Amino acid sequence: MIVIPRAVLKTLADAAEAAYPEEACALLIGRLRGNGDVVVSRAELSANLAEGARGRRFEIDPALRIRIMKGLRGGEERIVGHFHSHPDHPAQPSAEDLARAFEPDLVWVIAAVEGGQAIHTTAHVVDEAARQFREIPLRTADWGPYPAQPGLFEDQI
Ligand SMILES: [Zn+2]
Repeated sequence: MIVIPRAVLKTLADAAEAAYPEEACALLIGRLRGNGDVVVSRAELSANLAEGARGRRFEIDPALRIRIMKGLRGGEERIVGHFHSHPDHPAQPSAEDLARAFEPDLVWVIAAVEGGQAIHTTAHVVDEAARQFREIPLRTADWGPYPAQPGLFEDQI
């Protein structure tokens, strides 16, 4: 499961709509819980650096990633996943996504944008052995962007 604060999801949806008809992309920062759940605290939006066809491809700025990793060094948080949007395509990983999925530790969060409106967001992890994606549950939470009470899920309050 991945837990994303409502405010962060809104940021991602807004970026996806602003980038339409191109793909938006971002890095997701947060923590891993002992039970394997991923808890996102914030997102860092990236320019889409893909060469051409940015409506079907994305490339996160590697300099942004390095800067974030430096900032997180020594702390409890890390880069736990990334986000991109699918303009006028379902929120399911594409063949292109699978071909570029090399990091099994990262969660892929994908938003479908139809006619400029972000309508649906899903999360996936890569099963390296099977070379396929597996969808995982995505829950929203009301804290954030920085968690005041990271132990509280909205459905447990
Ligand atoms: Zn994709």
